[in-house]
Amino acid sequence: MPNDLAPLGCGQAPVLKQRGQHEVFCGLTSIIWLHRKMQDAFFLVVGSRTCAHLLQSAAGVMIFAEPRFATAILEETDLAGMADAHVELERNVSELLSRRPDVKRLFLVGSCPSEVIKIDLATMAKKLSEKYAPHVNVINFSGSGIETTFTQGEDACLEAVIRDLETSDKTQLAVLGALPDVVQDQMLRLLTQMGIADVMVLPQVTSDTHSVVGPNTHFICAQPFLGASYDEMVRRGAQPISAPFPFGAQGTTAWLAAIADRFDVPQSTFDAVIAAPKARAEQAIAKVAETLSGRSIFFFPDSQLEIPLARFLANECGMVLTEVGSPYIHRALVGHDLDALADHVVISEGQDVDKQLDRVFDCKPDLTVCGLGLANPLEAEGLSTKWAIELVFSPIHFYEQAADLASLFARPLMRSDLLRVGDVA
Ligand code: SF4
Repeated sequence: MPNDLAPLGCGQAPVLKQRGQHEVFCGLTSIIWLHRKMQDAFFLVVGSRTCAHLLQSAAGVMIFAEPRFATAILEETDLAGMADAHVELERNVSELLSRRPDVKRLFLVGSCPSEVIKIDLATMAKKLSEKYAPHVNVINFSGSGIETTFTQGEDACLEAVIRDLETSDKTQLAVLGALPDVVQDQMLRLLTQMGIADVMVLPQVTSDTHSVVGPNTHFICAQPFLGASYDEMVRRGAQPISAPFPFGAQGTTAWLAAIADRFDVPQSTFDAVIAAPKARAEQAIAKVAETLSGRSIFFFPDSQLEIPLARFLANECGMVLTEVGSPYIHRALVGHDLDALADHVVISEGQDVDKQLDRVFDCKPDLTVCGLGLANPLEAEGLSTKWAIELVFSPIHFYEQAADLASLFARPLMRSDLLRVGDVA
């Protein structure tokens, strides 16, 4: 299968590893997109008022809209060990499920406080699952912000879902990662045209799709932040398909080609399926690349999308990479994208934010991709920024979204160019 991604060598380059203060959201943030995707699921966070505020303000959903997430708030008596939090939680779950018969999957989501006081959510989930079977399945995962970043919430959720799947030797393709519905439909259409119809997508929209895993499950990740889910699939005997991530025309082609190789899709079929959308994507990217080409970019570690996006921006849009930071580098997942980066690029893993701020001010990039907390201070210092979290919420995968993805980076540059012209005038 064609592969435009010639290795340039960054995969072997030394990685700057730093541990210090880091500026990221916690895994609870993932609930905002997961609850929209998993339509019969409810996410019950076992946490503090801070956790409730984070969810409420980030999701922007009013209580009367009956959202499919809530927080069981740990009061001071729980935190001080004066009340039995397990009994309280069981009562909360009972009230919730009697009010919401539409809920078929209940996720008990751990937080920093529930982990600090060591509430055993795994045992709770097992006990509640037995109590409410077969109508409701209760699963637990951690969304705690202790030493994690916000996309790890989805990873922890999927890992728990995979752990719960029945074993089967059915031959199938599994695609891991929550994608917007329209993007997922495009992907499934391309796979169907290639002759691959038996595709399991995780997370499942509803729990009534009978999902299984086993030695004949061939899986590929659509999101680069699914390290724990990847490891769990391997542990369950499934076979990984290794590829660059489907960002841009080259990334999408290489991702599809890896699947086509595994499923013995004839080259002529593959070429016919990708020809038109690939050409459309290349043409659309070339237009946006006029703004991006030659401009420098610096990535702070935030979403774990950084390495594949850097590959797309450098190799398909002509941007100049300075530093590409990622909270964690899972080489089995991002190795192909890493190999496609030029070897002079600084690759950093983890964060010591003060030292990284010194580096960004030293190199004064045209564009800095960072978390919300850093964006305003950096803008005040004259740097143009792009919020990393916006990339997780936007449709950016596959051919039809490739130019939109490039535009997300072009817009702040065009805005700062206009402001500069205004200053001169
Ligand atoms: S899980 Fe931790 S980091 Fe996240 S909102 Fe709750 S207390 Fe804050």
